[in-house]
Order: sequence, then C-alpha cells, then structure tokens
Amino acid sequence: MIIAIDGPAGSGKTTIGRLVAEALKFALVDTGLFYRAVTVEARRRAIPMDDVAGLTHMLEQLHLEVNTSPASDRPGPLLAIDGRDVSLEAQDPAIAADLSRISQIPEIRRALIEPQRRAARGDAVVLGRDIGTVIFPEADVKFFFTAPAAERVARRRRELDRARGSATPDAVLEQEIDARDRADREREIAPLRPATDAIIVATEGKSVGQVFDEVMARLPKH
Ligand code: C5P
Repeated sequence: MIIAIDGPAGSGKTTIGRLVAEALKFALVDTGLFYRAVTVEARRRAIPMDDVAGLTHMLEQLHLEVNTSPASDRPGPLLAIDGRDVSLEAQDPAIAADLSRISQIPEIRRALIEPQRRAARGDAVVLGRDIGTVIFPEADVKFFFTAPAAERVARRRRELDRARGSATPDAVLEQEIDARDRADREREIAPLRPATDAIIVATEGKSVGQVFDEVMARLPKH
C-alpha cells in the first residue's frame, strides 16, 4: 500500500508521516532528501545550478542512500552520498535557494522518478510535493497537508533546533520557507498542488495526535 502525503514545507508531513509509518510498520520515504542530495553534491563539486548537463551527469554517477526507517532511533545516517553521511548539510537552510533551483529542472526531476519509486517498493508512506500527482498517481490514498506560513515557520524552527541547535534567525527561516514554497507552487513542472483525489488535511491549530487520528481514520481498510 502506498500512502502519499504532499504539502508545503513545515506543514507537518514528516512528523505525522513518521508516526503513521511506525504505527503501520511501513517504510517512510521522504522524497525531499533526493533533491537535497543533488543540491548538496552539486555545491560540493561547485557545479553551477544552471549547468543541466553537468548536473545530470553528476546524478548518473551518484550512489544515494535514503534511509527509509521511520524509527526515531533509526540505525545509520538519514542520507548518504557515495557512503558519506550528509544528513546535516542536507537540512541546512543555507542550501534553500539552490534547492529550489535544482527542483525546477525537468531533467533532474525525471531522473529522480525511478529512484523514488524504487525506494517506496512495498508498503510505504511517501512524503513530498508531487507524490499524488506524478510519482504515485495510483497511490492507495493521498493526503495534502496545509498550514499557514507562521505555523510552518514555527515547526521548521523546532525541527532545526532538534537537529542541531540551529542559530538561524526566524526572519531567515521565514524567507526560506516562503521563497521555497513560492518556487514549488509556481514551477512549471510538477508544481506543488493537491491531486484531484487528495484528502486535504488542514493542520492549523491541531495537535500532532489530532492530525495523526485524522489521517489514520481515512486510511483504506486492508
Ligand atoms: O520536503 P523538503 O522540504 O525536504 O523538500 C525540499 C525541496 O525539495 C522542496 O522545497 C522542493 O523544492 C523539492 N521537492 C520536490 N518534490 C518532492 C520533494 C521535494 O520538488 N517530491
């Protein structure tokens, strides 16, 4: 069974997706990690973000390992490139502008379709922006999470603080989230939008437990 959860940054996909995957003993595939991996490696190799041939060539050679364990004490790194743990760099708000550029490149998006589908073989909760529309249009159930910008910034803040006690000021985070979401919504290829058959989950003002219950109640019986 494939459970798709799409939505903008900070809408609660990761927190809820992890809990749902854990409860069902499903894999958790966070597809943002694929775009983050390409961005981190392009920056490391100093490949310009508009060098499409250079970027796709780089991607063909890369060995990406995206951890699909939903356990909070999961073994091994969340994301590795050619055996190097890049989990921390991948979450750094400093890569946001490059990340938006990378995820607008049709050739990169196309090249990442199969790796994303492979990672989600079997039973999986799959998080992203275009899971219900492009990656798994036949998903068994599709959710689209929404939340107002202020709440999304606050969540991102907590996420970052947990990861490493980030000193990123709120204004920078606000801008990061706002610019990234605008780019995700407005891009021509696979823009962020709910699939026509998605269940919209407005997470504003709801506790983690409430959103979790809402999602669990809408799952198909299996
Ligand atoms: O989910 P996360 O915030 O880690 O995603 C990082 C970026 O990767 C998004 O802002 C978006 O530009 C891109 N992305 C995407 N399609 C997906 C997942 C992520 O374009 N399915």
